[in-house]
Amino acid sequence: MHFVSSTLQLSTTQNPNPVPDERLAEILANPGFGTHFSDHMLTLEWTPDQGWHAGRIEPYGPLTLDPATAVLHYAQEIFEGMKAYRHDDGSIWTFRPEANAERMVRSSGRLALPVLPVEDFVAAVDALVTQDARWVPDSTGEKSLYLRPFMFASEKFLGVRPAQHVTFMVIASPAGAYFKGGLKPVTLWLTEEYTRAGRGGMGAAKTGGNYASSLVAQQEATEQGCDQVVFLDAAEGKYVEELGGMNMYFVHADGRIVTPATGTILEGITRSSIIELAGKLGHDVEERKLSIDEWRDGVGSGEITEVFACGTAAVVTPVGALKWDGGTTPDVTEAGPVTRQVRQALVDIQYGRADDTFGWMHRV
Ligand code: PMP
Repeated sequence: MHFVSSTLQLSTTQNPNPVPDERLAEILANPGFGTHFSDHMLTLEWTPDQGWHAGRIEPYGPLTLDPATAVLHYAQEIFEGMKAYRHDDGSIWTFRPEANAERMVRSSGRLALPVLPVEDFVAAVDALVTQDARWVPDSTGEKSLYLRPFMFASEKFLGVRPAQHVTFMVIASPAGAYFKGGLKPVTLWLTEEYTRAGRGGMGAAKTGGNYASSLVAQQEATEQGCDQVVFLDAAEGKYVEELGGMNMYFVHADGRIVTPATGTILEGITRSSIIELAGKLGHDVEERKLSIDEWRDGVGSGEITEVFACGTAAVVTPVGALKWDGGTTPDVTEAGPVTRQVRQALVDIQYGRADDTFGWMHRV
C-alpha cells in the first residue's frame, strides 16, 4: 500500500496482464469510442465505519456482483467523464479534474452517496492514468484517453435506503472522434413527448437514471434520421435544456452567445469553460432561458447565426438542422466561425498548443 493523497492509500497489482504492444498500437491507431479498455482499473470501497478503504489497482476485468446488489435494483449510481491528453513533448495532462471531482460531490449529495474528497478523486484518477500511461494516445486526430470514474451502491440488500457499502471505480478507454463525421454538423431531434428532468429531480446530477430515461427519446431521434435528441423543460415544455449528452450554445447576430441557464441541466465542464473562454475571446456570454420558439424563429430570421453543442466527448460540435414532428429548420452544412474559433481555442489548451492562461490543465 502507498499513499497517493494525504488520506488515500492504494495497492498495485503484482500480476499485471498488459495488452501486447502490437495490439495496443492497433487499438490506438483507431480507438473508436468506449469499446477498448486499458490494462487496469482502480477500486475504492466505502462503509460508514471505515470510510473509503481497500484502494487498489488491479488488472481490468469483470466484477462479480450478488444479484441483490442494490445498484441493480434502485440505480443508486453516479459517474463522471473526463479525458487525459498527451502533449507533443510526451507529457500527460487532464483538463480541470477538480471540476469533475466537485461535480461528483454534488451528484453524491443528490443520490445519497458518500462524498469522495476532491483531492482523493484527483489522486485516484492520476494513479490509474500513471499506471496505464501507455494507453494515452498521441494527439493526432484529437485522440485522448477517456476516463470514467463512477460510484455505485454495492451493498447486498433489497431494502430501499442509501447503501451502506459503496464502491468507487475508475476505468479508462482510448478515444478518437465521438461523432464519426468529425466537424460535420449534427442534426437534432426535438422530443416533445419525453423530458429529462423536473424541478427537484436529478437533472443536475450525473447519474445513470438520467441516461436510461433519455434512451427512448434518442431512439426516436435515430428513427427520424437525427444524431441527438433535444430536451425541453418539464414544467412548460417551452425552454431548451440540453441534448442527451451535451450542453448547447446559440450565437446571435449581434455577437451575444447564449447558453441555457442551469438548475435542471447537467452543468458541463466544457460549458462552463466556454463561458470563460468565449468571454476572453471578446464575446458576450449570457446564461439565460432560451425558448424553442426563439431558436426556431432565430435561425429562420438570421437573428441566431450559429448553434453548437459541447461536452467532454465531442468537445464542440456544430448543430445543423433541428427537426420536430412536422417541421425542420434550414440545414446548415458547415461549422460557423464562432463555433470553429471556440473549438480551436479549447482544443489548443487541452493539447498544450496554447498558453493555459486559466490554469485548467493538470499534469498527471
Ligand atoms: N449534459 C449531459 C446530459 C451530459 O451527459 C454531458 C456529458 N458529461 C454534458 C452535458 C457535458 O458535460 P461535460 O462538458 O462536463 O462533459
